[in-house]
Amino acid sequence: MFSTEPTSKDFRSGFVALIGRPNVGKSTLVNRFVGEKVAITSPVAQTTRNRLRAILTTADSQLVLLDTPGIHKPHHLLGERLVKSARSAIGEVDVVLLIFESCHPPGKGDAFIVNLLEKQKIPVVVALNKWDLVLPSDFKSIEKDYKSLINNNSWKIHSCSAKNGDGCLNLIKSLSKNLPKGQYLYPPEMVSDQPQRILISELIREQVLLHTKEEIPHSVAVNIEKIEEIKSQKKSGLDVIRTGVLATIFVERKSQKGILIGKGGSMLKTIGSEARIQIQALIEGPVYLELFVKVVPDWRRKPSRLSELGYKGY
Ligand code: GDP
Ligand code: MG
Repeated sequence: MFSTEPTSKDFRSGFVALIGRPNVGKSTLVNRFVGEKVAITSPVAQTTRNRLRAILTTADSQLVLLDTPGIHKPHHLLGERLVKSARSAIGEVDVVLLIFESCHPPGKGDAFIVNLLEKQKIPVVVALNKWDLVLPSDFKSIEKDYKSLINNNSWKIHSCSAKNGDGCLNLIKSLSKNLPKGQYLYPPEMVSDQPQRILISELIREQVLLHTKEEIPHSVAVNIEKIEEIKSQKKSGLDVIRTGVLATIFVERKSQKGILIGKGGSMLKTIGSEARIQIQALIEGPVYLELFVKVVPDWRRKPSRLSELGYKGY
């Protein structure tokens, strides 16, 4: 299928769904695993909108990771779609990586997810993430709390930190053991199945979320209108090629547009320059980024609008 086939007969490959409440660190873990920024993360819950497949290829396995939006009670149409997408991911994978936030005691949301997974009878590996935030004196009691949360299921538990990488290797090994024997599902050099266009729009959305805090998050969408090569000549006569990106940020209300643009355009400028740095890292070259803000009232409640913006009803 691909030119480089794995050499080991014991090679394993398959699909892994990352499941957990919003904000437990699913996207950060995906990025840690594949060593590149493919999933956007933020301190604001419910950042991940589109289902993302990240690909991790090691010497003896290939894990296709599905980063899903957190399972939570739906508030509106967009929320319902997010939950549906997370649920359908469980049915499509070989193993579930169930992630908890170990710096907090287990809550009702966690119990809801455990219940959902028990019913599916699927292999589960548990990650107690954010272990770097737990005091050593609390290690034992936290482990005990989460063990009792999973109801004596034989699920393997690993403490880890997506932030500093501790425990992540063991987690990967544990997940690999649950995959069937098989060949590469994707070329080994691939880290994401999302087109660059989507990754770029997600990087812009991430900067919007990081800079605007609570005022904007759930009502923002980013559409990439154009990506083009821009050639310009330096004094030396050499051509410089930059990638021009034209993007529209959609918000629901006029007031949100005001916040996004900021005084004298200062907010949009900050968002733009930070997003540009991220996009340059992604495409490994200079970028010229132009951002527009557009108000589309109530886009979240209109299915046709959602589809237009790429949020499919999985
Ligand atoms: P998701 O909603 O589950 O995808 O969560 P994110 O990956 O977006 O992470 C939510 C927040 O938790 C972000 O601010 C991350 O930087 C932070 N975070 C994720 N993993 C860790 C970790 O292991 N330790 C610490 N201290 N913070 C983390
Ligand atoms: Mg996420």
